[in-house]
Amino acid sequence: MTGAEDRLIQWLRDAHAMEEHAVTMLSTLAGRLDGYPEFKTQVERHLKETERQVERLNACIDRRNGGSSAIKDTIAKMAAFAQGASGIAVGDEPVKGALALYTFEHMEVASYQILIAAAEEVGDMETKRVCEEILQEEAAMGQWLGDALQSLTHSYLAREEREERASS
Ligand code: MG
Ligand code: FE
Repeated sequence: MTGAEDRLIQWLRDAHAMEEHAVTMLSTLAGRLDGYPEFKTQVERHLKETERQVERLNACIDRRNGGSSAIKDTIAKMAAFAQGASGIAVGDEPVKGALALYTFEHMEVASYQILIAAAEEVGDMETKRVCEEILQEEAAMGQWLGDALQSLTHSYLAREEREERASS
């Protein structure tokens, strides 16, 4: 294999670990958004999308190296990635959750841009196509969050004030 082929498979595994982490993060967050139906709906929608992304990346990895040893590798990578991404943990309130997710979606966009270039480099047009499609999903989620941050913050603060008044 050429250097670029090695890198592509390595970065596909990294992306797979990143998406596994995203599944955990999105399900945790969805469970904390009962007072924020619109945000919750978006997070649940993107969770389903993300589960599909994991499968599509798996298919790319299998197509490139036939799998098997890839599974072990992915588990190791996942642990490494989770440690590296521990700064991006979902907080216990929705504003911090939205902040963490916004950051995460933009990291995903960057990752797929890198994968698209690497796939081009080795002439893997199927992987390129898959990564372009996933990139659109990440960009859309990032955009939605960017547009929602201010109104979400207003709702959160108003809600918190109501709760404080009710308890005093
Ligand atoms: Mg994703
Ligand atoms: Fe995402």
